[in-house]
Amino acid sequence: MKVGVHVSIAGKIHQAVDRAKELGCDTFQIFSRSPRSWRTKKLEKSEAEEFCKRRKAAKIGPVIVHIPYLINLASPLETLYRRSISAYIEDIKRAEMLSAEYFVTHIGNHKGKGENYGISRITRALNQIISRTKPHLKILLENTAGGGTVLGYNFEQIATIIKGAKENKYFGLCLDTAHAYGAGYDIATKRGLDKTLKKIDELVGINRLFLIHANDCKAPLGSHVDRHEDIGKGEIGKEGFALIVNHPALRKLPFILETPKKRPNEDIENLKAIRALEKK
Ligand SMILES: [Zn+2]
Ligand SMILES: [Zn+2]
Repeated sequence: MKVGVHVSIAGKIHQAVDRAKELGCDTFQIFSRSPRSWRTKKLEKSEAEEFCKRRKAAKIGPVIVHIPYLINLASPLETLYRRSISAYIEDIKRAEMLSAEYFVTHIGNHKGKGENYGISRITRALNQIISRTKPHLKILLENTAGGGTVLGYNFEQIATIIKGAKENKYFGLCLDTAHAYGAGYDIATKRGLDKTLKKIDELVGINRLFLIHANDCKAPLGSHVDRHEDIGKGEIGKEGFALIVNHPALRKLPFILETPKKRPNEDIENLKAIRALEKK
């Protein structure tokens, strides 16, 4: 199986590759810049080249870039909406310089304007972004746990966005297991997992599922609470993850862990825990 973690880019961006390699990752995810600030330092060509060189030497991939948290492509506020679109375009360009394969995207918040409003807002934003960037990478829309005015907690919404895209070849799905469970998809049982994957296939197409965010869930099924837990220690549990990593529709996909990092060895322990569940 291909498994890795979200690693820090602290210091020089190429150090992310070194960190992933040291942890024994087959694949990894990064923020290409600080996820909680609008201000960003330009990514120099030489820095990106060093990143690509090291990544190639380490034979790690795919490389996944996650968008910063401040971006809200569904925002009803014109200033924030426009700012989000331009930050997103900047971020795609950085991800392309880093030769990332996937760009994980949150659907955003409608802030009380309603779900249909929010969905049409993000669809319009993504169409603008695609026409201005025509990226090589794939944009992966990530499902959420829901709660508040957050969008993307069901696959109907994600399917609507992809169908509304002028060119849908640019889009795919990133399935976050903790978010799906929090949203009410019982992927911890064989029956629930099959049902969820069938739903994904009917609505989005299983061939558009490119990435798993493998996180156990601290919150109960359908609670709409987004709380990640170590693999095997949450509500999905070891048995649930054994079903997920060995499922014929999922086993060839890259798995990225976004589990808590409270202790220094936690990434290594989670990587070990998920790999131990793979049936050879
Ligand atoms: Zn995310
Ligand atoms: Zn995630």
